[in-house]
Amino acid sequence: MSKVNPKFAAELSKYGSNDFHACFNCGNCTAICSLSTQENSFPREMIRYTTLGLEDELKASLKPWECYYCGDCSLDCPRQAEPGELMMSLRRWLTAKYDWTGLSGVLYRSLTATILALILVFAANLIFANSLAWNLKNMMHIGHIFEMSAIFMVLMVIFIPNLLRMWNFTILKPKIKASVRVYFNALGDLFVHMFTQKRMKDCETKDNFRWLEHFILVISYLLLLFTTVFLNWFNTESLFVIILGYVESFFIFIITVDFVSSRIKKSKALNKFSQPSDWLFVIWLMLMGLTAFFVRLFIDTGLIDSNKWMYIVHLTILAQWALIIVPFGKWTHFLYRSFAMYFSKIKSLAVSH
Ligand code: SF4
Ligand code: SF4
Repeated sequence: MSKVNPKFAAELSKYGSNDFHACFNCGNCTAICSLSTQENSFPREMIRYTTLGLEDELKASLKPWECYYCGDCSLDCPRQAEPGELMMSLRRWLTAKYDWTGLSGVLYRSLTATILALILVFAANLIFANSLAWNLKNMMHIGHIFEMSAIFMVLMVIFIPNLLRMWNFTILKPKIKASVRVYFNALGDLFVHMFTQKRMKDCETKDNFRWLEHFILVISYLLLLFTTVFLNWFNTESLFVIILGYVESFFIFIITVDFVSSRIKKSKALNKFSQPSDWLFVIWLMLMGLTAFFVRLFIDTGLIDSNKWMYIVHLTILAQWALIIVPFGKWTHFLYRSFAMYFSKIKSLAVSH
């Protein structure tokens, strides 16, 4: 029997959704959503579950991840119940549920906690620089080691356990029986969705420019990560790698500037509501692109030794990104959405076998 949490609606409001109470169950949102199908329909079902407080059903559902927040359903809702924002809030709530540390939930619910965490990392960075007597060469060397170890640690300590929890909630607990072959056959979907987010193109609004921006941003971000971590961008002599890093950081900067400006202007339905986690994600990504670009520019123009602050600013942004936003913030949506597509494919293959 389903467990009902009568306080669920109040809990979800801490993750951003407040208007879904106005829903009178007409179904327009599900009818207009071009990603919703007869076998896999949303968002109305998610609104019903939320209103009833069916927490376990929501935790087992992959539907919040099937939504790419085009905003069509919110525009078409006769009651302004904002179903698109409900789906977004459910994704934040699910992220908090998957996270074994509980820190995602704390940071999503409390702006104060987020600011404190950012200040803590900033202070740690200053202590680190001071302990090295502000020696730029040493700071850059250890900064590079930090980047490599942060990726490994976040993957091992946070992401793998959290993905196992997601798998448990969505596949094991609902008793989906799938063979190893099914897991293997569905693997292609994981990578295709991770790198292309191609379902975004299926949205009724056909906002191909939004899809293209996301696509270039994901590719530029992953390539910049590779260029700085594995090709040691700040320390390389290779002209090809240097130019590659400039191009990647430039694209990250201009696309995130466009994202920030859309959020400020609220020009699209998907930008009508912005939580602190949304701002933090785009602004820090923008700053990452900008500061990385300038660190390398200062190196190439011989200005870096007299402008160590530039590297310290970059390292602070990078550390806050790697220790707060990537493991516990909106960055995780990229990972969980890709795995949701993978698990969804496993579910469909398991049913048809
Ligand atoms: S959210 Fe709006 S469109 Fe969807 S079922 Fe409720 S009232 Fe209808
Ligand atoms: S925001 Fe778009 S994709 Fe998401 S449920 Fe609404 S119509 Fe569907």
